[in-house]
Amino acid sequence: AKPIVAIVGRPNVGKSQLFNRLAGKRLSIVEDTPGVTRDRLYADSDWRGRDFTVIDTGGIEPSNDNEILQFMRLQAETAISHADVIILITDLRTGVTAADQDVASMLLRSGKPIVLAVNKCDKPGDPPAEFYEFYNLGLGEPFGISALHGYGVGELLDAAYEHF
Ligand code: GDP
Ligand code: MG
Repeated sequence: AKPIVAIVGRPNVGKSQLFNRLAGKRLSIVEDTPGVTRDRLYADSDWRGRDFTVIDTGGIEPSNDNEILQFMRLQAETAISHADVIILITDLRTGVTAADQDVASMLLRSGKPIVLAVNKCDKPGDPPAEFYEFYNLGLGEPFGISALHGYGVGELLDAAYEHF
């Protein structure tokens, strides 16, 4: 069976940006089909010749702080029960938040393979000092990426691929 990669993270960290990048051309074909929702949650992708399914667990997200944590716990549960590999996305600009810590420990307890991405690392080269804070999530080496520009996404996928 095709491995399932789930993308989890707070609102606005760039889940959909990464999802769209991984889904690539195949997603635009789906979007052109009348009656098909534009906010696709599942897409087929491939890396190094291996097909996989990517899930954006976000979709329409709450903006109310109290609802965000509950929503994220649901996202994480969905990912834990359906995915073979989970990508937790965080945001360099906001740094590590309490919600990131909560979800990281939930994911860690699940025993599923987790790959930690720090998005919005838009400048190629050495990561800025703020990057190192993400090691504190206890999920191992963080991968600095720019879902917007594509930097680091190959290395992130290589890390996910090890668990396919
Ligand atoms: P989601 O809520 O987690 O799905 O996040 P989105 O993918 O909708 O992105 C939220 C905002 O962050 C949008 O304005 C994106 O354009 C922006 N964004 C996403 N990825 C990047 C990135 O790598 N760099 C920068 N600078 N902005 C990004
Ligand atoms: Mg989204």
